[in-house]
Amino acid sequence: MLRAGVLTLQGAAPEHALLLHAAMRERGQAGEVVAVRGPGDLAGLDCLVLPGGESTTIGKLLKRLDMVEPIREMAAAGTPMMGTCAGCILMAKEGDDEVRRTGIELLGLMDMKVSRNRFGRQRESFECQLEVEGLEEGFPAVFIRGPVIEERWGRCRPLAHFKGQAVMVSQNNLLALSFHPELSVDTRIHRMLLDMVPRT
Ligand code: GLN
Repeated sequence: MLRAGVLTLQGAAPEHALLLHAAMRERGQAGEVVAVRGPGDLAGLDCLVLPGGESTTIGKLLKRLDMVEPIREMAAAGTPMMGTCAGCILMAKEGDDEVRRTGIELLGLMDMKVSRNRFGRQRESFECQLEVEGLEEGFPAVFIRGPVIEERWGRCRPLAHFKGQAVMVSQNNLLALSFHPELSVDTRIHRMLLDMVPRT
């Protein structure tokens, strides 16, 4: 049975849990979704979602709860992970001045530099049809004060662009998105994450 974790410290965690359940159902796969609130909840997970919210708050809580190293170890061991919006920021190795000013420690999992709050304020949130590599039809992508991936190196590859800038990337077992796939009813991106889990 598949165990998918959703980091549940702050932000859009319940929506990810719903989409993961739906994605499992569509794949005909038995599984459960675990609300990850401390290091002990990471044990035995097949994949992990780092949701959107406030990267400053989530970053501070990860540190206070001693979850930074365990998550780094899981990522290095090959556990599939997906970071959305604030989660995308946390997965980056580098941040722009906006990120540096916050003083948070990034998880530093992916070969990329992110630039925070690059799509304006909350009221400038928008939805667009995004072409995503590996998906046949456009994905309804919701952007809410999301970051852009302004530099990539190493094995980090772009999977989607918006106005010429990378907004979805992958690197081995890791996926990061500037937008919120959990705020649509489209499960294709959550299925992509589940597809990365080796079948036993
Ligand atoms: N602007 C937020 C941050 O920098 C991210 C917004 C979101 O996750 N919707 O943490």
